[in-house]
Amino acid sequence: MKPSIFDELMSIGAPRAVELYARLTILERSPIKVERTRDTIHLFYENGNSLLFTPEGFEVRIEGADWVTTSETMPTSRLVSRHTFHDLLKQKKLQPKHIIDLIQEADEFRKRDNKECKYCKKSYPHERRFSDDVCYGCARIHLGVIF
Ligand SMILES: [Zn+2]
Repeated sequence: MKPSIFDELMSIGAPRAVELYARLTILERSPIKVERTRDTIHLFYENGNSLLFTPEGFEVRIEGADWVTTSETMPTSRLVSRHTFHDLLKQKKLQPKHIIDLIQEADEFRKRDNKECKYCKKSYPHERRFSDDVCYGCARIHLGVIF
C-alpha cells in the first residue's frame, strides 16, 4: 500500500514536517498573517484565533492581552489546546481539516470565556475583567478600585 502524504511527512523529520503542515493548513484556511522563527510557524486568523506550529506539534491559541501598566495592555495570545503530531497520528487526526476543526473549537472556548459585566452589560474576556462579573472600567467606577 502506498504511504499517505502524512506518513511521508512524519518520516522526513520534524523541521520539514512542521513547514509542510503549516503550508497544508494554509491551503485549507488562509491566515491573515504568518510569523516565523527558526523553530516555529505562527498562523493568525481574522477572528483572533491562531495556530502555533512547533517541531513536536501545534497549539491552538486565542488573542489576549497582558497588562503592562495600569492603563496599557500589550497584545498576546492564550493557549486553548496543545496537540502533538505523535498523538494526532495515533488517533488518525492529522489531516489539515482536523486541525481546522480544532481552530473552530477555539471559538467555543472564547464564547465560554467571555462573561457579561453586571454593570455595563457588555461581554469581556478573562483579561478584561476585574472579577467574574465586573469589568475593569466598572470596577473603577462602581467599586472604587484604584489601579
Ligand atoms: Zn462593565
